[in-house]
Amino acid sequence: RPSVAERIAIRADQKSYTYTQLLSSACNISRLLSGTDNEINNKGASGHGNLGGARIGIVAKPSAEFVAGVLGTWLGGGVAVPLALSHPEAELLHVMNDSDISFVLSTEDYSESMQSVATRCAAQFSLIPPVSNTFSSSNTTDESQIGEIDENPALIIYTSGTTGKPKGVVHTHKSISAQVKMLADAWERNSVDIMDLGLSYLLNILYLISLTHTIHVHGLFNALLAPLYAGASVEFMPKFSVRSIWQRWRESYPINGTKADDAITVFTGVPTMYTRLIQGYQAMDPEQQAASASAARKLRLMMCGSSALPQPVMHEWETITGHCLLERYGMTEFVMAISNPLRGARKAGTVGKPFPGVQVRIAEDKNGGGTTGEGELCVKSPSLFKEYWKLPQVTKESFTDDGFFKTGDACRVDEDGYYVILGRTSADIMKVGGYKLSALEIESVLLQHPDITECCVFGLPDKDYGEAVSAIVVLDSERKRKLEESNSGFSLEDLCNWAKDKLAPYKLPTRLMLWDSLPRNAMGKVNKKELKRQLGNEK
Ligand code: ATP
Ligand code: MG
Repeated sequence: RPSVAERIAIRADQKSYTYTQLLSSACNISRLLSGTDNEINNKGASGHGNLGGARIGIVAKPSAEFVAGVLGTWLGGGVAVPLALSHPEAELLHVMNDSDISFVLSTEDYSESMQSVATRCAAQFSLIPPVSNTFSSSNTTDESQIGEIDENPALIIYTSGTTGKPKGVVHTHKSISAQVKMLADAWERNSVDIMDLGLSYLLNILYLISLTHTIHVHGLFNALLAPLYAGASVEFMPKFSVRSIWQRWRESYPINGTKADDAITVFTGVPTMYTRLIQGYQAMDPEQQAASASAARKLRLMMCGSSALPQPVMHEWETITGHCLLERYGMTEFVMAISNPLRGARKAGTVGKPFPGVQVRIAEDKNGGGTTGEGELCVKSPSLFKEYWKLPQVTKESFTDDGFFKTGDACRVDEDGYYVILGRTSADIMKVGGYKLSALEIESVLLQHPDITECCVFGLPDKDYGEAVSAIVVLDSERKRKLEESNSGFSLEDLCNWAKDKLAPYKLPTRLMLWDSLPRNAMGKVNKKELKRQLGNEK
């Protein structure tokens, strides 16, 4: 069994990089950045290390270079700001200016455009040297560079921007390290586990799918930092491709062959990815379906998060692959806090229980009173962020006097102590007549309709009831074609007739819109606030 140093840390573009190569490259980058500390400090940076807390923008596709850039920034005492290449230049500039970037690190393929972006926000520019080239025996990791895990800022990561402009969330070395340990423990990183699972655990390979993921906590922590902490290997895909994922699984576990040495063992994704994977599976011929389902079944763990996993998707996935998806709840501000268990019962429609060390409170009303058992979820955790970047007032308003972070999500606890996320108080909780309704609950029911592939429920202004339950649905393409051929439609009445024994009368939609697709952001989420604004005005 190879020592950690010689183990594969990252695979990308058909190449593998060991932990030693990665760390030696990180040391190089730290030296490269620190050599210019005078200029960097001009931007008012303060803190530890040579970089003194300067912000280092990292713009690279998911690659060994991206990881080396983040680690190198940390070794030098800088604050890593991972940025998305997929963002339009104007947005990229906004984030770079907002976070006051001193230095932009990028790779060869983007050097021209990033150089010009760096110039425009008065930052220096440097290429991250290709990782394998930086390794030589005289250039090994200088461990003296690794300092104490402290409360200095280490990372600014922007929220998904589902409810407004993305906010810069500042994490410290301490909050990152607390979270990484929490996740590695939750997915079982301990000596017993290694004995138990042997090499299969050490070759615990995850997909980091598409670029969007390295700049959000879901990918950065669950799929990158926690597995690296555990000594696992992480595999990057150039972009999200349903076909390639199924193929990679089939190659890992051939139906009549032996398991591949580099077999994928863990997979994590957002709910829409599973919806797309199901659609991809349904489009296969029976032989390929059999090979795909049999391969998927052999992974150790499949996880889901970042937005609500509709129960029909969860059940369908289980029917196809035998995997009961492990759903968990998190946000940029504390990464992950509540999760279904690795071992033990995973309950559909719930996000499980708080991780050890996480305190959770449900605030029913402003005074802490109330009897409904439903209210705003508040979280205290060693993984809590330090502050919103340059938004002191918003930071202050987000915390209770005793240090709980107010998530803005409504929640209740079920009879088994599992947490049920009812949705965002700002957009998913509708007030209809005297009732408070959860849009997520209604969406989950509508998705059971055989003709509906995607849907989105929210409240629109209604003069009688305050808000009207409004649904945008995307129909299955085959079904849509048949409806068009027979000149018939998909009506609100039909939908309500179908749903009436599944939903209380006041929960039935009273407005229906048929769309070809839902407007989703990079994390697959729908900005309901924006939809409400547009459609509310239209009416
Ligand atoms: P912004 O804060 O900019 O509006 P955002 O809240 O979508 O964007 P993230 O931090 O990426 O940005 O997402 C956190 C939110 O995602 C949570 O507050 C919650 O509403 C939702 N979420 C995450 N996991 C789940 C889950 N398992 N079930 C339901 N909702 C979830
Ligand atoms: Mg948010």
